[in-house]
Amino acid sequence: MKKLCIGNWKMNCNKDMLLKFNPNTFMSYENVEVGIAVPHVYIQMAGDRFVEGRPCLCAQDCSGFDSGSHTGEVGARMLKELGVRYVILGHSERRSLLGESNDTVLSKLKLALGAGIEVILCVGETLEQRKNNVTNEVIRSQLDILSEVDGLERINVAYEPVWAIGTGQAASSKDIQSALDQIKNSLSRYTFKSRIIYGGSVKKSNCKEISRIEGLNGFLVGNASLTEEFSSIIKSLV
Ligand code: PEP
Repeated sequence: MKKLCIGNWKMNCNKDMLLKFNPNTFMSYENVEVGIAVPHVYIQMAGDRFVEGRPCLCAQDCSGFDSGSHTGEVGARMLKELGVRYVILGHSERRSLLGESNDTVLSKLKLALGAGIEVILCVGETLEQRKNNVTNEVIRSQLDILSEVDGLERINVAYEPVWAIGTGQAASSKDIQSALDQIKNSLSRYTFKSRIIYGGSVKKSNCKEISRIEGLNGFLVGNASLTEEFSSIIKSLV
């Protein structure tokens, strides 16, 4: 199983950045698939710049509606048409800032898989939930939606503790290992083998240590994917 290293550029890029983007910076590694998730408006342009899937084209979200009168929405089939290979769903910023529920994530998940796009499903607890010792319950309930989905082999799970995202303070290896065990436990009733990746302040200084965690299959990287550090992070997985 190849490892996965996805950069999430969020709303931090512009046309100029894509024009200057050099796909040759991203060497091909046999055991690591590298992707970058760009805002919808740049998908077409990124698809032209990311030569031969290096890095592979990813989206940061898709609509929970298939088609029709949904002004401003971007459907999974549209993304597929533009060559999107992976879509990030259930990111904590969407859950907290836009009030996305597990049901909304489920609708999106079904449509993305139906369109032939692989999903990176984000799960993870807030600081308050961690303090209240409900981390495992939160992860379990966020993964419960999978029981209503076909085509599970195209789902990857990203453990992203909300308190570690964008804070510069990654979770400890022990905490990541414990969440990984919970995720594996929740997925044990299915026959598919999901890749499980970690996200939350991964950077050059901590990627090596985190990459050594047994059973971890890669990273989802926010801030550091906008910098030169991203290459070092990718290499830590090779
Ligand atoms: C993210 O937003 O998914 C993320 C992991 O961000 P950062 O690496 O900046 O914490």
